[in-house]
Amino acid sequence: AMSQLDARIQPVFDLVLRRNPGEAEFHQAAREVFESLGPVLSRHPEYAEASILERMCEPERQIIFRVPWTDDQGRVQINRGFRVEFNSALGPYKGGLRFHPSVYLGTIKFLGFEQVFKNALTGMPIGGGKGGSDFDPKGKSTGEVMRFCQSFMTELYRHLGEHTDVPAGDIGVGGREIGYLFGQYKRITNRYESGVITGKGVGWGGSLVRPEATGYGAVYFADEMLKTRGESFEGKRVLVSGSGNVAIYAIQKVHQLGGTVVACSDSSGVVFDDGGIDLDLLQEVKEVRRGRLSAYAEARGNASDYRTGATIWSLTSTTRVDVALPCATQNELNEADAKVLTENGLLAVAEGANMPSTPEAARLFSEAGVLFGPGKAANAGGVATSALEMQQNASRDSWSFEHTEARLQEIMVGIHEDCATTAEEYGAPGNYVLGANIDGFTRVANAMLALGVI
Ligand code: GLU
Repeated sequence: AMSQLDARIQPVFDLVLRRNPGEAEFHQAAREVFESLGPVLSRHPEYAEASILERMCEPERQIIFRVPWTDDQGRVQINRGFRVEFNSALGPYKGGLRFHPSVYLGTIKFLGFEQVFKNALTGMPIGGGKGGSDFDPKGKSTGEVMRFCQSFMTELYRHLGEHTDVPAGDIGVGGREIGYLFGQYKRITNRYESGVITGKGVGWGGSLVRPEATGYGAVYFADEMLKTRGESFEGKRVLVSGSGNVAIYAIQKVHQLGGTVVACSDSSGVVFDDGGIDLDLLQEVKEVRRGRLSAYAEARGNASDYRTGATIWSLTSTTRVDVALPCATQNELNEADAKVLTENGLLAVAEGANMPSTPEAARLFSEAGVLFGPGKAANAGGVATSALEMQQNASRDSWSFEHTEARLQEIMVGIHEDCATTAEEYGAPGNYVLGANIDGFTRVANAMLALGVI
């Protein structure tokens, strides 16, 4: 059952439902934050007086546009492009672009809403936004991807700027796509404006550690949570869902810290590898060949076990799992999965993806006393390192791997500390959901109050 919303908050939630019909993920993300905010409004009547909550749920600007492009057969294809500029109280809109056939306005709004609080938690000067398209990169040639990216940017460029709106990657958008997008922006504007997009290649304005940052950051966050129980990754069995950019570098960091990742997944199957995922092979298959996980399993032969027809979480009942790192996509882990994991002695969950646990799963984890790091805290390392990339671009500098990783780790330790302290201040020690929501909200709300009714 859903918990009751505070009497001052319910009317705002009703308004969100009415203004955004059919956008289930956005409703879910808003409700999740709202459930934490009752005690904040009691301490801070000024937020309600200035309608901060209602203002935060209405994006500053929403852009929807046609993206026409020509496929390899010479046929004209049409996709829909989005950019939701959600909140700029703390800095220019910042957040990734997602290219996936399931994308619609509600996806981008939920991601943009989460991004506002996540970005605030990093303590860096970045507002929140998100964009994307229902374009499906799967099975497209490099030429098709390039022409799509060029067309997408031909419309989007007018809304961007290093002080205005700074996109990056997300699902379906990696270094290759960022290159094509930046190239088109540069060509249209005749400006080498490095700070207008992040996730660039290291040879042309990108930052070291940006590809690793989300995965590494999620593992650092999990490590900080484990420390509060006198635990570490040493000797732990870990499940990582997904096999994209976030999953790959989460696996790498877990292995560096002495844990073993025993399974990962993609949209067609799950691979179990009891001795630990072979990361070099996984990277070769995913990053070089752009292949499927089934190719990894084939190359491993008898060493691994490839299964289809069920998710990684529902296949875990046979194995002990200490730490779960959902790094695939929203609502991938449900209540039944959470139950099985908890019964298998699960210690901690850190969300590398955005909103991968359903509300019921998240509730079950906290009721069972499992350490639970919500995405807006645990996966903030990616966007934090994007902010470090912007810093390097602004100063025309580039930092070493060691320095940049040290900054990332500092930021993740800081986010963990702030969430823990805030949770304690509000009488709920160890509740990272409450800590992240309240700390993120407070930072944005205070800036909005200071900037007046805008
Ligand atoms: N898409 C990532 C996220 O969900 C990164 C965004 C960015 O670097 O701007 O936070």
